[in-house]
Order: sequence, then structure tokens, then C-alpha cells
Amino acid sequence: MVVHGRFPERDRRRLSVLMPCWRCESTESSLEERVTTWLVDYFLKTHRGVGVHQDCAPDGQVLELGFDLITIITLSLGLLPRETRKDFHGRDDETRDAILQAGLPRLPYVSYLVEALLEAIDALLKRNLSFALSKPSWPIGVSWVVGLSHDVDHLSKWVARNLPLRVGDLKRAVREGDRILGALKSLLATAVGPYLGRRDPYSNVGDVAQIENQKGLAATYFLGVADPGYSPFEITYDPNTLTSSISFASLREMGHEVGLHGSYASGDHRDSLEHEAQQLRELSQSAVVGGRQHYLRFDRTAVSHSLRAGLLYDSSWGYWSKPGFRGGFGSPFQLGPVGVSASNRIVEIPMTIMDTSLREFLHLDPRGAAEAGNALITEASQASGLAVINWHNSAFDREDPRSFGQVFLELLEAVLENHGTIWTLETIARWWHYRDSLQASVDEDRLSVTHPDGLKAVSLRVLGNPSLVPVDEARGARLSTDPRGRRRLTVPTAGLDAVGAAG
Ligand SMILES: [Zn+2]
Repeated sequence: MVVHGRFPERDRRRLSVLMPCWRCESTESSLEERVTTWLVDYFLKTHRGVGVHQDCAPDGQVLELGFDLITIITLSLGLLPRETRKDFHGRDDETRDAILQAGLPRLPYVSYLVEALLEAIDALLKRNLSFALSKPSWPIGVSWVVGLSHDVDHLSKWVARNLPLRVGDLKRAVREGDRILGALKSLLATAVGPYLGRRDPYSNVGDVAQIENQKGLAATYFLGVADPGYSPFEITYDPNTLTSSISFASLREMGHEVGLHGSYASGDHRDSLEHEAQQLRELSQSAVVGGRQHYLRFDRTAVSHSLRAGLLYDSSWGYWSKPGFRGGFGSPFQLGPVGVSASNRIVEIPMTIMDTSLREFLHLDPRGAAEAGNALITEASQASGLAVINWHNSAFDREDPRSFGQVFLELLEAVLENHGTIWTLETIARWWHYRDSLQASVDEDRLSVTHPDGLKAVSLRVLGNPSLVPVDEARGARLSTDPRGRRRLTVPTAGLDAVGAAG
């Protein structure tokens, strides 16, 4: 952000937005409770936007926020020291996650609080004859984004290795008194082999890819390079089955991305991620720049392993038991040590809506699942944010007449109706890296925008007084008001087209 005003330097330094420090005021054990209670009061009980900021100096040069954004974000990311417990698979125990249990992840609350901070800065600068420019969330013409992804855990349903899963299906069918015959048939096919001429219900990656392609969409397919014998929870195919089942050439031709589904084993032995990424690059003849860990077994403090594996992004930040914006994040964010360059960080692309949480953990029927997914999609659009859909290929099970494949298609329709832009996760990560390197500066009365490889134009948000912004109209710069009433400065930038170039 660049701040500029028509007053002496010494006065400009006095403009301040203060925030309280809840960490100083609370003990560690009460901090989580305090943050959760504040968030519940602010977002779920009262109207948003109340009590955001207030003057705390008579000259109007200091504003104070009503909340401690830094503590909220660090606690939401699980980065403050607190008593954490791991679940059976070594992940944070979601049953003890106060924010999740309070129902807060149905909102991308971090995005709303950052917006409240920007509004406070806007108010402060307006009354002090100054302005600031802030980076755009998305390129020109993109108001909000949905990332489309598929974790591929199984390439065949009817294989002996899957017998325990099919026994589980049958038990569930008996318990629910529904589809017992279907579950029995599937169990038999798994035990003795497929019945004549029937294609395996999970041999469907190419079909899903084609459906998306016909809609003009591209998705990320997370594929694993695993030893299925490692654990009963491991990805169930080996590299040979992967190459014989997936046509990488046709995925590439359709514009889909191949990402790494880091094996269950790589959650225990993080060094193996590098080897898996390399092997997948060789097998798929694709760049493989991102990953999501099987069972979401990701350690956000172990970014170095993703970097060594040559990954630009990870998309394991999400809840397995419930859909929602984990820790209130409805936007990508950088993950890595503070103060290091972007090349030493990865982009985290939070996963929002996963078929298995809706189906297996919340036990929703297709209608309930579509409603839950739609609510999150609406929130992402309202926050000009991001929602990432993860639909396993097993959700497009041809044996199941209540296929969750239909729910997936309904969600896509809802995104397009809400004017969302659908991208692969690689495109999201590349934009976020690009955005990180955008710089604007004002020298005398000249504004310059620097960027590494160039969009046709970039649209910066103007906070404060727009009449002070030096607009170089001769070079095509212009001020405008966006549909939300926010002032924007569009600056053409010479150079090559990059991701999401302005239309
Ligand atoms: Zn998986």
C-alpha cells in the first residue's frame, strides 16, 4: 500500500490506525475463548460493521479499531501457543477447534475484518487530505473466484483391496435401510471381479474431465504416487495403475492441471514429498506445481518440504469434518517464515467445500449438500473472495443413483449464475504470486506501478481522497467507481499478457 498526502512529512507520520492487543490482556488459556466470543458476537449475533472504529484523538488523526486483527488471524491460523490435540491421523483435532465448533467458518470472516481495516484507513485519510492505494484481490474483470479440484483416491472400486470399504458400505446401507441390494452387488463385484462388460464405477476421471471441458472449464486433478500397502488409509492405486488408467495427454489437451495428491505416507515422512512430485512429473509429463495432502495431513510449519518438492502452492488448509472457510480464510494467503522472499513461501489455497464432509460426515442427501455448498458460494461472492471445491472422483460413482456428481454440477451452475470466475488452483497461485510483487509508489506528483512480467492493466483501490491521486490520463490511466461504490484507479501497464490479463 502506498500513502500520499499534500502536507508536511512530519504530519503524515501522525496518522495512525490503532488496534488493541488482546494477547497482552488475556492469558493463553482464555485467549481462544475471548477471540471466539468476540467473533460470535460480532458476526453471528449483531450486525456486521457495528463499532468498527472510533476517533481517539481530537484532531482526527488517530482511529482505533474495536478488535485485534493480528491476534484473530494468528489464532485462526493455529499459530498461537495453545493446547492442541491431534486426531488419529495426526491432524489438528477438529472436535476441539473452538472456531469450528462455534459455527464461524460459514463466513470468510478474515476477509470481512480486513475490509473493516481498509474502511478505517479510508475514513482516516479522507479527513486528512491524503490517499492510499491498495492491491486488488483479483485481476480486472474478475470479481470473485472458485477453484475447481478433484482428489483422486481410487481408480477402481471393484478390487479386492477395497473389500473392507465395500463391507462398510453394506453395513451403512443396512443401517439406513436403503440401497441394500446395490451395496451387496458391489461387494460381490469387489470380491469376485466385475460382472461381464461393466466398467468399474471409479474409472471416471476422463469422463469428469470431459464434462468440465464441454462447459469451457478447467480443473486441478490431484493424483497420487503411492504404495497402497503402506496403510489401510493410503491412496489405493500404485504408479503402474495410475499410468494405465489416466490419459495425461488428454487432460493436458483439455487444459486441466495435474497436481500431486501427497500420499498418506508423506504425512509421516515428509521428505518423500519431493520424490513423489518428481515421479509424478515424469509419469505425467506435466509441470506439477501444487499439491493437496491425502487425508489433509499437512503441517503448515513444514513449508520447506513443499518448497523442496518444487511446489508453488498447497491446498490442504480445510476442514475434513465440515465444509467451510477454515480459520475464516476465504482468500489465498502466503505461508512461510516471516520476512523471507516470496520464493521461500508457498501460496496456501484454502479448501472450502469437499464432497466427503457433506456425504460421509454430515450425512446430507444431495439436496442438503447442494444447499450447504450454495451458502458458502454465496459468502465467497459477497466477500469478493475465493471458494475451493474438492470433489473426489469417487463421488461420480456410476453405481450410486443418488450420485453426488449431480450436486457438483449444480454448484458449478450457482457459481456461474453469481458471476464467479472458475480457475484451476495453479492459475490462482500464479495470480497470487504476481499480486505479491505488484508495487506502487508516488514520487513528487508522479505515480508509478511496477510489476515483474506485466498485465495489460491493473486496477488499484483508492482509499481516502481520490481527487489527490495523480492520474496520468495521457497514458490511459483513469479513475472509476466499481459496483460496490469503491473508487478505483486503473493503470495500463506495458508488457506481455500474464494470467488473467485484463479484457
Ligand atoms: Zn485423498
